[in-house]
Order: sequence, then C-alpha cells, then structure tokens
Amino acid sequence: MWLTASTRCVGWSGRSCAAAPTGSRSWPPAGSSRPATATSNPEFSADELGVAVTEAGRRGKPVMVHALGGPAIGTAVAAGARSIEHGIWLTEADAADMAAAGAFLVPTLGIYRHLAAQAAIPGSLPPAATARAIAAGQTLVEAVRIARAAGVPIALGTDFAHRDMHGRNLGEITELVGAGLSPVQALLAATANGADLCGVGDVTGRLTVGRRLDAIVLDVDPSDPEIFTDPDSVGEVFLRGLLVRPPP
Ligand SMILES: [Zn+2]
Repeated sequence: MWLTASTRCVGWSGRSCAAAPTGSRSWPPAGSSRPATATSNPEFSADELGVAVTEAGRRGKPVMVHALGGPAIGTAVAAGARSIEHGIWLTEADAADMAAAGAFLVPTLGIYRHLAAQAAIPGSLPPAATARAIAAGQTLVEAVRIARAAGVPIALGTDFAHRDMHGRNLGEITELVGAGLSPVQALLAATANGADLCGVGDVTGRLTVGRRLDAIVLDVDPSDPEIFTDPDSVGEVFLRGLLVRPPP
C-alpha cells in the first residue's frame, strides 16, 4: 500500500485467500456464543489440521484458522496455518510461536463491537453470550497488543457474515487504530500485510512500480481513522488497474 502525497489513494488488498478450518464455524462468532470452557476444546485435532494444511498446500492455498485461544492457536500454528483469525485469548507464548512461524493475526475487532452493540439490546442474545460478547472485544484489544509486542504481523479481516455488514469492512481500520496501531500501521494491515498474508504481496497490496493497481481513492484524509467508518468516504475504485467504480 501507499498513500500519495495528495492522500487520494490507498492501495488495497482484500482477503479471500484460504481454506478455513475453524474453531468458530458458525455465526455469531464463538467468542460470544460458547460457554467459557469451550475455549479449551478445539474442534480440530492436530492431525486434522495437518491434513487441511497439506491438502490446501497441494492446491497452492494457505490455511487460515479461526481460533479463540487455548491449545487451538498453538496447534494451528504448528500445523502450518498462515493466520489466526480472532485470537481473543492469545497468550505471549502463542504470540512467540506465531512470530517464529511467520503467522499473521487477523483480530476481527469490528464483529465484536457489533455483537456488543447487539448484546446491549435486551433479549437479543442469551444472557451468557451477552457478557461474553462485551468482554471479548475488550480482551481482543489486549491480544493485539501481545501480538504486536512479539512481532506478529497484523492483517485486516472482519468475519462479517451477513450481507448487511459487507461494505463496511473498512471500519476495521478504525478498529485497529483503536486497538493501538497508528493510522499508517492500520492501513498497512489493510493493504500490504493482507497481500503478504494471501501470498500475493509481490503482485498487489502496494502502490509501486511493478505491482497491480488495486486501490480506492479518497477525498478525505486517511490519517483520520474515523473516515473509514463511513463507506461513502470511498470514491473511485480501481481493480487490476481498471476503474471499476467511477467518482460519485
Ligand atoms: Zn471466525
């Protein structure tokens, strides 16, 4: 990614790269829907994860694992997962393992803010899930801090699962700044790091000679993370060098 001097262009790389064995397959994310003890009960064994990584690798695909905490993260990293999605209860030991393996953390902060807002509506979530949804978002901020301290690269992802939520993915940039990243670091998470995670960092994700132009154009200052909460901040959209959305 890079910003031009006029701040009108932000390189962009979406995430659509991987098969996904998951510790939280259903929506809403398990961080809000499971009893606390479930975090220590991974859905997949080390052998199963190993097979998933091997089979995906035979097709040239990396594997991302939606894991909340407990042994699931370490097992996934040891199996060769390219990234951990969520990572709510990430420990320093987990982060050290991820850094050594070059695994990314995709913290998906926005979905937990959404769930916390839902939880504030009486009756919208089961009582146990309500407290958990609120706590998960707060804990996830700490997980991001632990990951960054260990040198784990952060990439942007949302775990949005409903059509009404799509189109608001850029709000995750705002969430990352709220979790301690600088605006530039958050933009890199959304662009260059995402491309690197998907294995296409030599093709896209940065605005530089030799890479494909996948970019959005903004008429507002992207150093203000709040602009990303408004989808209307996006002007033109370029995909593979072609203008696919003209100026509004
Ligand atoms: Zn998930």
